[in-house]
Amino acid sequence: MAAPSAPLDPAEDPSLEELVVARPFLSRHAFDGLVLEDVPLSSIADAVGTPTWVYGAGTMRARARHLRAALQASGMDVHAHYAVKANDHLAVLSLFAAEGFGADVVSEGELRRARAAGVPADRIVFSGVGKSVSALRLALGEEIEQINVESAEELEMISALAAAMGRTARVALRVNPDVDAGTHEKISTGRAQDKFGIPFAEAAALYARAAALPGVRPVGLAAHIGSQIETLEPYRAAFARLADLVHTLRAAGHAVETVDCGGGLGIPYRNQPVPRPEGLAAVLRGAFHNLDVRLLVEPGRWLVGPAGLLLASVILVKQTEGARFVVLDAGMNDLVRPAMYDSWHGILPIAAADLVLPVEPADVVGPICESSDTFARRRRLPPLGPAARVAILDAGAYGAVMSSAYNARPRAAEVMVDGDRWTVIRERPPLEALWADEHVPAPATQTAPLSRAPAPA
Ligand SMILES: *Cc1c(COP(=O)(O)O)cnc(C)c1O
Repeated sequence: MAAPSAPLDPAEDPSLEELVVARPFLSRHAFDGLVLEDVPLSSIADAVGTPTWVYGAGTMRARARHLRAALQASGMDVHAHYAVKANDHLAVLSLFAAEGFGADVVSEGELRRARAAGVPADRIVFSGVGKSVSALRLALGEEIEQINVESAEELEMISALAAAMGRTARVALRVNPDVDAGTHEKISTGRAQDKFGIPFAEAAALYARAAALPGVRPVGLAAHIGSQIETLEPYRAAFARLADLVHTLRAAGHAVETVDCGGGLGIPYRNQPVPRPEGLAAVLRGAFHNLDVRLLVEPGRWLVGPAGLLLASVILVKQTEGARFVVLDAGMNDLVRPAMYDSWHGILPIAAADLVLPVEPADVVGPICESSDTFARRRRLPPLGPAARVAILDAGAYGAVMSSAYNARPRAAEVMVDGDRWTVIRERPPLEALWADEHVPAPATQTAPLSRAPAPA
């Protein structure tokens, strides 16, 4: 088990200046305040209101190209599939499709979204521990690139469905390499006690079973050991085990064409050092260079996380004996990561004047009736007054996709910036939309009498 992380010392937080400097797509201007790419964030907040997600398309494109260049430079045959669950907005998916990325999907909804955004079926990989029958039928009908199988039970299920449809699915076995990715408990996926993947010791027998079954053709292996991975060591350990397994399978006479190495590359939320794509590429090369396999990677967070932020307004500042609470109009229903994973997000005022005032500690909280609705504790911020606006940084991944309507709060609007232009890519829904699909039963419209038979012993 990963040791519970020690609470972060606010004295070691990066300063507002350091947060801006470390993010090349952000800048602060004497009149316009905080600017994303070439758009002042205050003009978006003025026009669209808050809370609003803002994504930088130029930033996403630059990251996609950086990653691709690093993979290409490794000299390996590596293909990148964007992990749709990190941010599944159609505008984001079509951006990565246009950059030549495939997609990694985990549900029928994501599969249909990826297709709607123009990702070709033969560039789609389907992962997930519980794929529904209807999702699998769709995947088989569309002849997607690959289905990553997570259990012996699922292999039998896919074989039966595919054989009945007269299809042969390309399947990879997702193995659980039993390595600790050193990340938060809730986003670690590659240890023996996690629900994901096929136990390493059972993989070779299951591969043989797959080779014998109708409707499936085993093409390789897959692994995904977790998310927000901050060192290369867990990757090195997992890939070494995968490479060993490729040798074992080939020695037993099986064809292994492809290894899907998953996602998980971390980003510097708190300006901490994290591996670069070049480092990951070197580890891939180290593990697989003499194996003649086609590699896949499935980055999500790394591509979109730093390219997005959540704009929020200060409702009021509440001063108590021991603390100053800055209460925002964004809450944990919008961005749940701090409540769910104790994650640290940079918070910057967006007005030019607020960016230069002296700072003092404040707790930044949302309006929701839960104590966990807290974005930051003892954060050094200027004395923000009511109506001041802030940007919660690095919110492009696992932000809007994880939001809910808790406390009857509609989902926030979404905006995409591209250079000096910006577009609303998702409207803020009217409040009435929250209950438009609800029904109140009329009195006694239906009866379902109890049989009153005794319960079986
Ligand atoms: C979530 C997930 C990813 C993406 O993880 P990131 O940490 O966002 O890069 C990739 N592959 C699979 C199978 C996943 O479940």
